[in-house]
Amino acid sequence: MTKRIANRLSVEQAEIKIVSVLVSKGHTMRPVMSTYIDYNSPVLIQCPICQDSRSPKVTQICMRGAECKCYKDKKKQAMIVARNERERLRKEERENAKPKPLTYRERWDRNNYTERLKKKTPNLIPDIETFTDSKIPMKMFCTECNQTVDKRVHDALRGMNCKYCYGVGFTKERMANLYILKLYLDSDKQVSLGYKLGITNKEPQERCDYINKSTDLFCEVIYSIESNGEHIAKVERQILNAIPTGFCSKDVMGDGYTETFNGTYLNEVIRLLFELT
Ligand SMILES: [Zn+2]
Ligand SMILES: [Zn+2]
Repeated sequence: MTKRIANRLSVEQAEIKIVSVLVSKGHTMRPVMSTYIDYNSPVLIQCPICQDSRSPKVTQICMRGAECKCYKDKKKQAMIVARNERERLRKEERENAKPKPLTYRERWDRNNYTERLKKKTPNLIPDIETFTDSKIPMKMFCTECNQTVDKRVHDALRGMNCKYCYGVGFTKERMANLYILKLYLDSDKQVSLGYKLGITNKEPQERCDYINKSTDLFCEVIYSIESNGEHIAKVERQILNAIPTGFCSKDVMGDGYTETFNGTYLNEVIRLLFELT
């Protein structure tokens, strides 16, 4: 707008022009038209909200609008909010980019432990909720003896099975021995207590020596047979299922007590041994 045209503006027209510019820019300043002289002269403007006031030239107001103090504060506030939001988003992005540590369950699934255990030790049903690490014992339920055992996935995958059913450290993968121990209460072997069936990948005598050392009993190997671990484990299971077991108490025998039996069943055990081996 030229000076000449502007100078011809009436007060009303000038007010309309000034206010429309201020409104269009969102500014809250308003002119006090009683102080208006002409387009090139200053006019008093005031903000009804923050009471800020000053007198810029009308031309300046029409070109740039007029920011009052509260408008500037609002703008600054909005900038801070926008900056914080940008920073929050950037941080979120950085965090999403970081690889998250796997949960126990994800580790379990990723290693396909369910399938691998099913192949190695099908009688052990893992309680996946109790898994933390393959080398830390977890709960597994043995469907052969209906007992829960603490077992490392690492060991189970190496073929180590339920300690009640297969003994500690037994694996079907290797050759194994099935043995019968005669148990005595005295070192002279006069008072017989019963018998224990067992399987081991070691020599039966080693198991016998271990029991002699770790319990108050005295025992001797009266029978043993060697075959592949798978077969040996099967034969043992069949015999233990055929006769009453747990003849000795756990206090006397330790963990192997579930494989002890009364001498009256010895003939039956020997008959089964001939039949199955
Ligand atoms: Zn204001
Ligand atoms: Zn078992």
